[in-house]
Amino acid sequence: MAGKSKKKKSLNFSKISETDSSSSEEEEEKKKKRKKRVVVKKGNVRENPDLKSIKETTKRDKGSSGVVDIEDFSDELSVLKIRASLLDWYDENQRVLPWRKKATSIDQTEEEEETCKRAYAVWVSEIMLQQTRVATVIDYYNRWMDKWPSLHHLAQATQEEVNEMWAGLGYYRRARFLLEGAKMVVDGGGEFPRTVPQLLKVRGIGDYTAGAIASIAFNESVPVVDGNVVRVIARLKAITANPKESETIKSFWKLAGQLVDPCRPGDLNQALMELGATVCTVTSPSCSSCPISEQCHAYSLSKSSESVQVVDYPLKVIKPKPRHDFSAVCVVEILDDQKGTCSSMSSRFLLVKRPEEGLLAGLWEFPSVLLDGEADSGTRRKVMDQYLKKTFELDTRNCSIISREEVGDCIHIFSHIRLRMYVELLVVNLNGGEKILSEKEDSDTTAWKCISSNSIEGMGLTSGVRKVYNMIQLFKKKTSLVYSRSRKKKNTQTK
Ligand code: SF4
Repeated sequence: MAGKSKKKKSLNFSKISETDSSSSEEEEEKKKKRKKRVVVKKGNVRENPDLKSIKETTKRDKGSSGVVDIEDFSDELSVLKIRASLLDWYDENQRVLPWRKKATSIDQTEEEEETCKRAYAVWVSEIMLQQTRVATVIDYYNRWMDKWPSLHHLAQATQEEVNEMWAGLGYYRRARFLLEGAKMVVDGGGEFPRTVPQLLKVRGIGDYTAGAIASIAFNESVPVVDGNVVRVIARLKAITANPKESETIKSFWKLAGQLVDPCRPGDLNQALMELGATVCTVTSPSCSSCPISEQCHAYSLSKSSESVQVVDYPLKVIKPKPRHDFSAVCVVEILDDQKGTCSSMSSRFLLVKRPEEGLLAGLWEFPSVLLDGEADSGTRRKVMDQYLKKTFELDTRNCSIISREEVGDCIHIFSHIRLRMYVELLVVNLNGGEKILSEKEDSDTTAWKCISSNSIEGMGLTSGVRKVYNMIQLFKKKTSLVYSRSRKKKNTQTK
């Protein structure tokens, strides 16, 4: 696979070279300028040579301590202008989102309750929004709030229910921490923590979520820094330092803190994030309609030099390559009928619970075994047979195999892992029914359940498991079509 990607890269490169050799003088000049923008690899950072010179001239280069010096927003007037422009723009342009809804006409006694509701709404939405698009989150958020409208409701939920609700959003640890955090607050007396230091003590709440809750719900004058804020500030101040380095991150927090409006901290923070999400976007910022373009250093540099673009900021950092993992997945379908003649509608699927720690902790999946690397189907079957025997004592003595077929493979991407799953469908009759699965001595260490296809449809499954289930359904459809066609053909020939 690595060989393939290398080939692809070299193909792209030769394409660029081809265009180069046939260009006119004018094209050549443009190309020289473009080349200046082409980033070069330096350590794990792509650094634009042109930006490097800007960095030198603006004295933001590394000092003797090796720390990048980033200038503060020292011009008071400019800060006031930025705040005012951002707040005006936000008042006019903010997106209508369910977690931004405010109660109208409430009396004093209801105010406290409303503030806590808002804090809960911010907490849930901000956790959901980490690594997930707004459009995807809206539906999840609404369903979540219908089921658990307050922190106290959530604290009564089980991990199983929360996982079901979260299924498909990914990063399941966030859901677990959200529930643990809710229980922690309720068990501690139920009073919602209001300040950043108090919030940071709650399970699953980090600097970002603490800043969002404290500023938006409780009006504390504290900053919030996410990817959108980093991008806007990096462009505002034309910052060339590596945004992933801890010292630079600290500087972004400091700068965002200088921008926070003491009267409307929550709105200012949301305005910055909203600007990054809708105007100052990663690849196509709309500088001409930006409310703070006058104060934007990157924009002004881009106007005075053709070799600088606002998208050069912040510095692009190469992500580490994901690990390649391989797994054998066996979808075990248990037919109810002892003779194995009943339809698949009356069959049940075996699901196994993952361990409570680690990747996808406590979530349900089809029986799976992580492989040492790529393996042929014979090896995959062997390791799967060993797993089924060890975990459920399933073998030919207690189950009759109706069919066992390779379904295919699919890729599932986690943040740091690229998992290739080899899927097979094993249809069996259990001699003695499902109870034989639990007869295994250490079966209490592996949680499992058998579930009908009807129930599985409505169950909250992780997207990886859903992918496998859909593959199985498609496979069954195709094979039943082939079977019915061949039967039809046979009947016609007999006639
Ligand atoms: S002027 Fe352009 S680059 Fe600067 S903050 Fe606005 S959209 Fe971003």
